[in-house]
Amino acid sequence: MQIKKIGVIGAGVMGYGIAQVCAQGGFEVLLRDISDELVQKGLRNIENNLNRLVSKAKLSESDKANILSRIKGTVKMADLRGVDYIVEAVFESMDLKKKIFKELDELTKPEIILGTNTSTLSVTEIASVTKRPEKVIGVHFFNPPPVMKLVEIIKGYLTSDETVKVTRELAEKGWGKETIVVKKDTPGFVVNRAFVPYIVEAMRMYEEGVASIEDIDKGVKFGLNFPMGPFELMDLMGNDTNLDVFGSLERELGREFTFSVAYTLKAMVKAGKLGRKKGEGWYKYEKK
Ligand code: NAD
Repeated sequence: MQIKKIGVIGAGVMGYGIAQVCAQGGFEVLLRDISDELVQKGLRNIENNLNRLVSKAKLSESDKANILSRIKGTVKMADLRGVDYIVEAVFESMDLKKKIFKELDELTKPEIILGTNTSTLSVTEIASVTKRPEKVIGVHFFNPPPVMKLVEIIKGYLTSDETVKVTRELAEKGWGKETIVVKKDTPGFVVNRAFVPYIVEAMRMYEEGVASIEDIDKGVKFGLNFPMGPFELMDLMGNDTNLDVFGSLERELGREFTFSVAYTLKAMVKAGKLGRKKGEGWYKYEKK
């Protein structure tokens, strides 16, 4: 089946970026969130991203208009009936993802692939609520999706080789991404499994008073040549999402996961200091 129209569920930090990547790849996109306000916010964010590309002469005005014309927003799940591929990017909650996959399974054409952008949750468990577990797959983009080159493709226990092949081709040829295939549906997959212990250790150093947030970030940037320090990166990703991701790894890996989630991060999420999206996280951000 030829993929022409892609449904993206969730218009948050990842969802709108994924919608932009799909539209830039020439696909029709249907972006769904739970309120019109959230859908419009997602669409505005895409337009702002494209405006930035135009101002840097990386995109023409007419290409921008074409890309935008390919993206439609909706609050109705039923509108997703006709799409040829799904990428789900709602909050990192197993209960919510299961509810959505059950609905999508009943609603969409039975032959289409249902992808999830989960960072840590089990693709196999999400697939278990559908009648097509062989067509459920992890399609893990990185933040921000239009900029980050990698898509991690995660094979659930029952995901078919054909689903992996179609998804890999879509990500590489359709979206212009690099891919890796994660053969085992293990917590954190490859990238977060490597990334989380490093981030958790940075928070532990801060809590122990080893160095300031600024100096830990500076040390990592100049000492390891990373483009961002751990705290800057956490603010970009969103501390609520970080807490979900770390908590999930802690639960799933149990004793193998030797770092426990920092107290400060839990307190910050309770206090609403979620990072760039709220204007304050580990750092304060000026409103542009
Ligand atoms: P976010 O909080 O920015 O956005 C989530 C969006 O989902 C919200 O707009 C919310 O209204 C929407 N939503 C909730 N229920 C919905 C429903 N029933 N239908 C449609 N939309 C619904 O979160 P995010 O950072 O974009 O993360 C989304 C997913 O992507 C999570 O699974 C997360 O683990 C994963 N992820 C996040 C990052 C990151 O850096 N933020 C990176 C890779 C993967």
